[in-house]
Amino acid sequence: MPPMPKSLRNYAAAKTTSEPGVQDEAQITCPFCWENLTILLDLSLPDQDYIEDCQVCCQPIRIHYTSDAGTLISLDVAQDS
Ligand SMILES: [Zn+2]
Repeated sequence: MPPMPKSLRNYAAAKTTSEPGVQDEAQITCPFCWENLTILLDLSLPDQDYIEDCQVCCQPIRIHYTSDAGTLISLDVAQDS
């Protein structure tokens, strides 16, 4: 009988490493206190626009970013007034 292909076992192991959702970290500068902050981005969505409070001065930062197939295209931060 034909020998079992050895690559079959490796393929099954590799499949378990894929994770649902695409997340990435980004460095931004707070437009109020100019501190550098690290935020978490969800790149499974093509367009995001939301308010996040600064971790240092607690002011509302408007964060807008776009992504394509899990890659960050643009990232903007602004004061929310
Ligand atoms: Zn701040």
